[in-house]
Amino acid sequence: MALTSRPRGTNDIIPGEIELWHELEEKIRQVCHAYGYKELRTPMFEHTELFQRGIGDTTDIVEKEMYTFVDRGKRSLTLRPEGTAPLVRAYIENNLGSGALPIKLFYYGPMFRYERPQAGRYRQFVQFGFEALGSSDPLLDVEAIALPLELYRSCGLSGFEVELNSIGCAECRTGYRNALTAYFEPQAAKLCGSCQGRLHRNPLRLLDCKVESCQAVAKDAPLITEYLCSDCADHFSQVQKYLDKLDIRYTLNPRLVRGLDYYTRTVFEVTSSELGSQNAIGAGGRYDGLVQELGGKETPAVGFAVGVDRLVLALRNQGKLQPSISGPAVYLVHFGGETKEKAAEIAHALRGRGLWVELDLGDRSIKAQMKAANRLNSQYVLVIGEEELSQNQAVLRNMSDGQEESVPLDELEPLTKIVGACAK
Ligand code: ATP
Ligand code: MG
Repeated sequence: MALTSRPRGTNDIIPGEIELWHELEEKIRQVCHAYGYKELRTPMFEHTELFQRGIGDTTDIVEKEMYTFVDRGKRSLTLRPEGTAPLVRAYIENNLGSGALPIKLFYYGPMFRYERPQAGRYRQFVQFGFEALGSSDPLLDVEAIALPLELYRSCGLSGFEVELNSIGCAECRTGYRNALTAYFEPQAAKLCGSCQGRLHRNPLRLLDCKVESCQAVAKDAPLITEYLCSDCADHFSQVQKYLDKLDIRYTLNPRLVRGLDYYTRTVFEVTSSELGSQNAIGAGGRYDGLVQELGGKETPAVGFAVGVDRLVLALRNQGKLQPSISGPAVYLVHFGGETKEKAAEIAHALRGRGLWVELDLGDRSIKAQMKAANRLNSQYVLVIGEEELSQNQAVLRNMSDGQEESVPLDELEPLTKIVGACAK
């Protein structure tokens, strides 16, 4: 059992499915190029402290979801549960803030969280995320909303919605925290264990709790928008002004706070109507304090993370991104002996030119080889018969129209041209 089943909450992506991923990865690179984001790859694990400090130790991720282990050198390490803290660590460590700002970086790769697995919620999942560091311009917040929308659109996804809020800065949050504590305190008995523990340390977290009884209590909690300082209120109204200018539709959700402590000011989430209860296909926001929190210079920043597994699910539910079924450019049919040697030589040469070539390995009958070529959806079949070989010739059959022609084998250029053109 243990040998033939993967760990709970993980997935295999098999041929037939991987093509969708490749297409998406290509689209991600295209949209990042258009917005000027360059890829940065960080390790799959980091010092545990990075996430405790970066994400916040009263968050669900840090309290309940991290894969943390002690290595043989007795260091506490954690499989990355998200990509922003590692990226900011790399930004500081590699001194990437020394050039022109903002610097725009993106990442793509697996994240690990110990969650209750269900459709769209896994223990290993892929995020594509991007971060722009070094500008507090509200237009950058708007670009961080526009970029993923462009990605979703270019994939053909419809039925997505943007929810938007501002959770202010440290200054506005002091008053808001007090108001939240005063609101929740009398109802503390109705809260889950985690929320009772967070009530005094970080009451904002209570608004993001997924437990139903906590959500019921939080329903009438005071709203952050009533506590924004004038700078934050102004920033937020400029974000909305630019969104309106660019015709980007959104819904204001004054209860949206996000599950990570590093956010400041603008926060946003995109949901898809193609998904069930795990309907968030991406989320992000501004995090003006994180670089400094992790030991760098004060640097405003904004970013977004797309749940790629959920995007794939949504696209599949919508019937989009069907993999194109392509087969080998040519299948080499031979009669064993010298003809097999010739087939091996031709396959080697054509593969060296980047063409997908298959040939029979088991010395099967011609009928069986033709069947195999058909099953693979080969575009051409090259039959290398003994008699033809003695004249350095073979018969090339176009599988789509059944046309046959004789091609020379002493120089491969003509053959490469015909099968290569069709394979494109
Ligand atoms: P959720 O509210 O669904 O738990 P989150 O707030 O934890 O999401 P983020 O940490 O902001 O999500 O991650 C951004 C995106 O990554 C999410 O919108 C979602 O699409 C995806 N994501 C997060 N956790 C998982 C998971 N366990 N499995 C698959 N995708 C996930
Ligand atoms: Mg979560």
